[in-house]
Amino acid sequence: MRSHAQRVRSIPPTVFSEMSALAVRTGAINLGQGFPDVDGPPSVIAAAVEALERGANQYAPGIGVPDLRQAIARHQHRHYELDVDPDREVCVTTGCTEGIAAALLGLIDPGDEVVVLEPYYDSYLAMIEMCGAVRRPVTLQAPDFRLDVDALRAAVGPRTRAMLINTPHNPTGTVLTRAELVAVADVAIEHDLVVITDEVYEHLVFDDATSAEGHVPIATLPGMWERTLTLSSAGKSYSFTGWKVGWATGPPDLVSAVVAAKQWLTFTSGAPLQPAVAHALDHEPDWPRELARSLQSRRDLLVTGLAAAGLAARVPEGTYFATTDIRHLGWEDGRAFCLALPERAGVVAIPNQAFYDSAAGRHLVRWAFCKQPDLISEGVRRLAAADLTA
Ligand code: GLN
Repeated sequence: MRSHAQRVRSIPPTVFSEMSALAVRTGAINLGQGFPDVDGPPSVIAAAVEALERGANQYAPGIGVPDLRQAIARHQHRHYELDVDPDREVCVTTGCTEGIAAALLGLIDPGDEVVVLEPYYDSYLAMIEMCGAVRRPVTLQAPDFRLDVDALRAAVGPRTRAMLINTPHNPTGTVLTRAELVAVADVAIEHDLVVITDEVYEHLVFDDATSAEGHVPIATLPGMWERTLTLSSAGKSYSFTGWKVGWATGPPDLVSAVVAAKQWLTFTSGAPLQPAVAHALDHEPDWPRELARSLQSRRDLLVTGLAAAGLAARVPEGTYFATTDIRHLGWEDGRAFCLALPERAGVVAIPNQAFYDSAAGRHLVRWAFCKQPDLISEGVRRLAAADLTA
């Protein structure tokens, strides 16, 4: 057995595959990996079938098919009043995950430092490592998971090249407020940093008091367009996580860095799915809003059920996820808890410590509510019936 290259050896395998495999192996209800159990709009599927049959089956242009790039530009304008040039300021990627990879590979040199919000999505860690760069985590502290601006400032040093942020934030469900984003922007401008922002949950914000101002793209703040690379995808907004169609938008110098790396990763992204996603953006503009409404009631179902099971979670303002502190049950280690959970309760969850350098996430567990109400109800019923003490 040959050993893996150093580049990947130090990176733990993704916790999502591990926990979904655990769910399959044990037959447990999977409230772990965030993927919906109902597909997106039928008209979008029909558009994909039509594209397959019409013969959109050879390489797309590296930056994406014109129809999709134009639809993305229209989307940015419709929602955020951003004027995006579809020919120079958009690159279609194979999911946001490739966008993250290409952004970091295209912009970050070995030894550079990247400030990330902790908890961070696991691919940020992997790609910063693969770049030979250094991550500087800024912890969103429980129980509120708000941004500590002083900690952000303190994390920036002479080698800092970029800040990689995520809002709405996975796994905490925090939606950064305009004030928090202004603070990020101030630091970025003061230190001339690039901001890479993962906004895949941009439409999955909830319509109640905690998030009255909704999602604010940092690229819309004064002085930020020119230093911000915004990443998103159709996976979350349209419940097609398996399609892996994402995009990067930003000024030409930043988007061209994504293109420079992407051409050597996937070369181009899946051709027949691109016109279908263009159809989604142009012809199903209200679908994500409806999804957010339905997710909000499923969030409430999950959070209420968790509380009744003794697993009180913070009410998230966005995303698919809620987080519980399990220390009161005698557990210090969320991973041990999650590994015991299928046998104890027939449920799978995600240990948040996979998203931390620090010990701050050791006792936190993430639950997904992007599932059908019956499944959520059955999941929390099982949790309530189980002995969950350590
Ligand atoms: N984004 C999804 C989550 O957080 C999972 C995606 C993946 O498995 N890489 O659960």
